[in-house]
Amino acid sequence: MKAPAFSYARPKHLADVLALLEKHGDEARLLAGGQTLLATLNMRLSEPALLIDLQSVQELKGLVVAGDCLRIGAMVTHSEIEASPLVARHAPLLARAAPHIAHRAIRNLGTFGGSMAYGDPAAEWPACMLALDGTVIARSSQGERRIAAVDFFTGLYTTALAVNEVIVACEVPLAGATHRFAFDELVRRHGDYAVVGLAASAQCNDGVLDQVRLAWIGVGSMPMRSTATERVVQGQRLSPSLMVEAQKALRSELQPEADLTHSVESKRHLAAVLLKRLLTTLHQATPPSLSDRHAPVA
Ligand SMILES: Cc1cc2nc3c(=O)[nH]c(=O)nc-3n(C[C@H](O)[C@H](O)[C@H](O)COP(=O)(O)OP(=O)(O)OC[C@H]3O[C@@H](n4cnc5c(N)ncnc54)[C@H](O)[C@@H]3O)c2cc1C
Repeated sequence: MKAPAFSYARPKHLADVLALLEKHGDEARLLAGGQTLLATLNMRLSEPALLIDLQSVQELKGLVVAGDCLRIGAMVTHSEIEASPLVARHAPLLARAAPHIAHRAIRNLGTFGGSMAYGDPAAEWPACMLALDGTVIARSSQGERRIAAVDFFTGLYTTALAVNEVIVACEVPLAGATHRFAFDELVRRHGDYAVVGLAASAQCNDGVLDQVRLAWIGVGSMPMRSTATERVVQGQRLSPSLMVEAQKALRSELQPEADLTHSVESKRHLAAVLLKRLLTTLHQATPPSLSDRHAPVA
């Protein structure tokens, strides 16, 4: 199908984007990489009067270390994250997750901010942001708002973003020496959306896991953490009996929905398999070497 007619604007400055949003409200849509929006226009699931293309807005681009956070501009593409030495050093969970997103052509155009704004429960970045206790930075003509990732997703494809707000960047805390990260997902073919995926992070001190975050992909109507299961492993040393207890907690905590290929029970089973794999990885993963951690920031 063909998209309905719309007006098109390509501002160069964030202030102009905000002014257009203020003027046109819900009649306008922001266009990032177009990797989701253009398909929804073509299917006529969305019929905005105006598309505001963000490609020329420099303020939304770039990856930088800002204090104790890595700041990811909203228009940073999945491929840029995948290739970035800064991400590999300071946010290794993102580097591990990036190759799982779709295929190269989509990763070259799709953006971090677009993925967060879309809020797909099957997408990688929302889960990583939950696992990393990340923050979404939104701007409107009234000013800036910082929204914790845990408060950002509010339902199926819905977020805390207001119609006059733009995501300008997202921030994740810099990985420290005791941080451990693991990411994996189960898919029918590489590049497909995950049947079930897990982004996990924790502190590991002398074999004890602390500040455990288990963020799931494809198991609910929105990106979500399994906090009851996190509590089971929190402050514990991993053992076969703890693993059994954690898997049991997960099976009763997750309420996945069946899809075309997988029943609820098979999704629960796959999630328990991933949990075992990733808790083991978190426990065994070695920290970045000292020389890596103290290498000059590019
Ligand atoms: C075949 C295919 C397979 C895919 N597989 C995966 C996958 O496995 N995993 C995955 O995570 N994704 C997948 N995607 C989606 C892809 O990752 C997109 O990049 C992502 O959904 C966002 O698209 P985009 O950045 O191009 O944003 P757009 O499509 O341009 O916009 C998406 C939405 O976000 C809004 N938006 C964009 N930028 C901002 C902003 N800065 N502030 C506020 N709102 C904004 C737009 O208005 C729109 O509503 C796939 C896409 C395709 C076509």
